Amino acid sequence: MRKVFSVVFLVQILSLAVCCFYARRSHKEIAPSVRRLLRYLIPPVIGNLIIVASGSEFISTIGCYIYFIGMDFVILALLLFTFSYCRLSWPSQKLRFFVLAMLTIDVLQFLLNPFFHHAFRTEAIPVDGYNYYRLIPYAGQTFHRVVVYAVYLSVVIIFIIKTIRSSRINSERYSVILFVMLFTGMIQTFYIFSRAPIDVSMVGYGLFGILVFYFSLYYRPLRLMDRMLAGIAAEMNEALFLFDSNDRCIWANKPGIEMAGIENDDFDKAEEQLSNLFSQYADKKDDWTTTQTSGSGKDTKYYILEKHAVKDDQGRLIGSFLSVRDNTEQQNALEEEKYIARHDPLTDLYTREYLYERIKETLRINPDTVYYVIFANIREFKIINDIFGTEFGDYVLLSIADWIQNTFPDGSVFGRLAGDTFGILLPKEKFDQEAVENSLSSFVVRKGNASHAVLVHLGIYEINEPDIKISVMFDRAHMALSSIRDQYKTHISFYDDDMREKVLWNQHISSQLHNAIKERQLQPYLQPIVDQNGTIVGAEALVRWIHPTDGFLSPAMFVPVFENNGMISELDQYMWQCACEILARWEKEGIDRFISINISPKDFYFMDVAVIKDLVKTYGIAPGKLRIEITETVMMTDINTRMSLLNDLKQSGFFVEIDDFGSGYSSLNMLKDMPVDLLKIDMAFLNKSNNEQKAEKIIHNIINMSYDLGIAPLSEGVETEAQYNMLSHMGCQLFQGYYFAKPMSVADFEAFCSRQSDGTPS
Ligand code: C2E
Ligand code: MG
Ligand code: MG
Repeated sequence: MRKVFSVVFLVQILSLAVCCFYARRSHKEIAPSVRRLLRYLIPPVIGNLIIVASGSEFISTIGCYIYFIGMDFVILALLLFTFSYCRLSWPSQKLRFFVLAMLTIDVLQFLLNPFFHHAFRTEAIPVDGYNYYRLIPYAGQTFHRVVVYAVYLSVVIIFIIKTIRSSRINSERYSVILFVMLFTGMIQTFYIFSRAPIDVSMVGYGLFGILVFYFSLYYRPLRLMDRMLAGIAAEMNEALFLFDSNDRCIWANKPGIEMAGIENDDFDKAEEQLSNLFSQYADKKDDWTTTQTSGSGKDTKYYILEKHAVKDDQGRLIGSFLSVRDNTEQQNALEEEKYIARHDPLTDLYTREYLYERIKETLRINPDTVYYVIFANIREFKIINDIFGTEFGDYVLLSIADWIQNTFPDGSVFGRLAGDTFGILLPKEKFDQEAVENSLSSFVVRKGNASHAVLVHLGIYEINEPDIKISVMFDRAHMALSSIRDQYKTHISFYDDDMREKVLWNQHISSQLHNAIKERQLQPYLQPIVDQNGTIVGAEALVRWIHPTDGFLSPAMFVPVFENNGMISELDQYMWQCACEILARWEKEGIDRFISINISPKDFYFMDVAVIKDLVKTYGIAPGKLRIEITETVMMTDINTRMSLLNDLKQSGFFVEIDDFGSGYSSLNMLKDMPVDLLKIDMAFLNKSNNEQKAEKIIHNIINMSYDLGIAPLSEGVETEAQYNMLSHMGCQLFQGYYFAKPMSVADFEAFCSRQSDGTPS
């Protein structure tokens, strides 16, 4: 008997040690408390082993001490393990202190037992012919039992509560430990009261330790997992089908049953139904994922199908499952997002980026077709918006979009490039120039009471270099369009090499302006302005570029270029400065003449009156000597701002003139409000007219009207004596034109003036 128990205890000690060793490897939160419990369980078993194995009283007594003191540590470790296992903590610090104090006192009183013999004594009883030393308990031992049982019962109660409160599946992890604990406790109690010679409850200790080790660190509640997985599968929104290893459907969740129309759990039908629903379903065998559609048009549904094999630990096929997710909503949202990104919200045409993409694709697919790239622009769309309001403006854009859709047949690609510009790709052979020109010449947009003839220009580039960027193709088409920007009768213009030359020229001179100003290659030429006696009263400063390689350049060669690229203000300010220099010198020399300078309409738009005011101040000249020529076109937009600019100039003492009156957009009505001093009537108006008599009458009336408005008239472009006589007759008192003198260098002008004052005929 002794030997048997000795071996059993030894095995237990070893098992606990092995468990302890493996528990060290675990990183679980509970692992430290499991390790501690396993460690502390070993000494009491060792104690008992000593008691059982030894035949000497002294050694047996030592075994008893190891056992009892070890039990205090076991009970503490058990309590701490219970807290960790059941996710609890000390209810209060006082209780913690109390329990620890009790256990400490218990340990101490055992240590004092050899002196006072208040806890226990041993007595020898013969078992199997050996002496076995049985315990005779005293008060100290009773105290020990009370402490240990109190903690033990608390732990048992905690486990009972946990077992009862947890769901049936979860309670397993508590009930198993509870059961072993009760079992061990019971045989321990039996041992105490029966006073049996050998403490068989130690067997329970070892078992308890191993169960704690397993349930805490390795136990996975498979039943619980099964239940949960089944619950998740049943509750999933996507359809789920489970198949056995022969690919026969054995189960489907509710969405799956609905999708496959399975009735009365007849899952065999699923296979056939799935093949009907998803065309590619039947061809697939192993693990796969695919996106499938069903239905068409607005009823199209998108599904994501995924099939996965399930294998056991040895890699043998157990079965497989198929999930079918209805992705229609996400797919539709994605499509809508794509559509929004690719389409202009107002006209529903392609956006620029997508149009470029589509054009690239079309050119790639049709390498043998010759295409046109067309840039369409609405002339003065801003004015349409200003006058009729943005609602009408939007309507105009919609009408153009409609027109493009209806005019350019299949095979074309089109979109909105930006605000009022559209882009089209069209096979050359499908472009009917005459029809397009006709339809554009009578393009009127009507909405309610508003109606407006809209001028649309098309610039066309024939793609003869298909490899250049789409944006460059449109740049070329745009270039073609720019050449007819100011034309009202021509609506279509083709890109040609001259345009390219022009662009190169523009780039060439634009890059040089800065330097040309610095090196004074740009010079003011002066054209005399005379009174009715032919006396020179002033001059107009006209820019000339004495170019080191390109020679003498007239403003027509570069002013429009700088007007277009915004560099005109640099040129104009330089000319104003030159005019001020000349005036300052004249002032010193006592010459009383004015100089008119030109302000480009483009420049006037951004003009800072302070700059010109500063100039006259710096040069110390009277502002009235520097006359400012603007054209009527500046008043076409944003009239209020322009009026206040003019008023500012006037109030600062400048003399403001309207240049080229009659040659462009004339609004007599506006003239009455414009704070100007002089009207330059362009004789080109006379020359262009077929009906000279009528034109003369108009000029006559303009002269009369300007006097009525308190504005002095000046006739420019006077080329003949007849014109001069006629204009003098009509009452005009100021003249400028080749008849008197052409624009000339400042030195020539000054010589010209001195000849005149000397009386030398010019
Ligand atoms: P503009 O201001 O109307 O200047 C008058 C233009 O008519 C000048 O041409 C002048 O040479 C020309 N001209 C004068 N008398 C006659 C004539 O009897 N018959 C004909 N056929 N033409 C005559 P130019 O110098 O070539 O200048 C052309 C335009 O360039 C100017 O028209 C003006 O708009 C612009 N321009 C000239 N210099 C400047 C400048 O410094 N700044 C700006 N922004 N524009 C300038
Ligand atoms: Mg002028
Ligand atoms: Mg003029």
